[in-house]
Amino acid sequence: MIKVEHLKKYFPITSGLIRKKVVYLKAVDDVSFTIKDGETFGLVGESGSGKSTTGKAILRLYEPTAGKVYFNDIEITALSKDELKKIRPKMQIIYQDPYSSLNPRLTVFDIVAEPLKEHGYSGSIRDRVLELLEAVGLSEEHANKYPDELSGGQCQRVAIARALALDPEFLVLDEPTSALDVSVQAQVLNLLEELQKENNLTYLFISHDLGVVRYLASRVGVMYLGKLVEVGSTDQVFDNPVHPYTKKLLESIPIPDPNVRYTKKRALKIEEVPSLLNPPSGCRFHPRCPFAKEICKREEPKMIEVEKGHLVMCHLAEGME
Ligand code: SF4
Repeated sequence: MIKVEHLKKYFPITSGLIRKKVVYLKAVDDVSFTIKDGETFGLVGESGSGKSTTGKAILRLYEPTAGKVYFNDIEITALSKDELKKIRPKMQIIYQDPYSSLNPRLTVFDIVAEPLKEHGYSGSIRDRVLELLEAVGLSEEHANKYPDELSGGQCQRVAIARALALDPEFLVLDEPTSALDVSVQAQVLNLLEELQKENNLTYLFISHDLGVVRYLASRVGVMYLGKLVEVGSTDQVFDNPVHPYTKKLLESIPIPDPNVRYTKKRALKIEEVPSLLNPPSGCRFHPRCPFAKEICKREEPKMIEVEKGHLVMCHLAEGME
């Protein structure tokens, strides 16, 4: 359903008071992957790895700097604004913070009705809004409330109802539960799973919570400093990680076993992450990689298929001794 080819998103940053200089923050730098119809593709990585920017660039909420994105063989990146507006209902996004993603001055009814009105829905808007609220586990009594009268979980349900209003096929879920209480997270994740089955939805699930991604996603991509460094089925990536960064990331998941202590050694140190304004040469992970060799500083590794559907961007996968 989704094909991403060599996607780049650079943000210009102006520095210097007298001699102004423009440098580019390379948030997403030559990323390619596909998402199959009806699947959940998980995108993981530390904060600043470019996973949210990738999601927004796919939907053209951020205009890509280069590269192509296809949705059902339609090149999204080649569409005019009017053409994009027509296709937008089919591709929606759900954000991390439900409070800031909903207009606080509108009632729940108006929030959910807004996209229906904007796109000239031909049926009864009232019936459709109530149907959507029911689908996400809310009722008619919530329709007249404002976002600040609802809990975080209820607000996220409203955001999901609004995103579903125009029968989308593809949803970008950008850390959809990370702002919610742990007790509510599971309910919202279960709801997203149910809605996917009922409506044959395709998800790009962006999260730093590897446990949740393992549970929900059928395939996973791992991002590091704007690059996709490993991609494969969830079992391939979690059970047989090849890229040293993926291994470190998985090691840093807290283990629910009192006999295994969550030590500093297990955690990835945030202060070690280089800047996207001046990323390391060659393999961007080389300053943190215990296996780095001279070639890693000089040459960027290619994406190599190590087994069917399992791709890794590392000189080790290319056979480096
Ligand atoms: Fe480590 Fe070299 Fe592989 Fe990069 S290419 S992850 S530095 S071994």
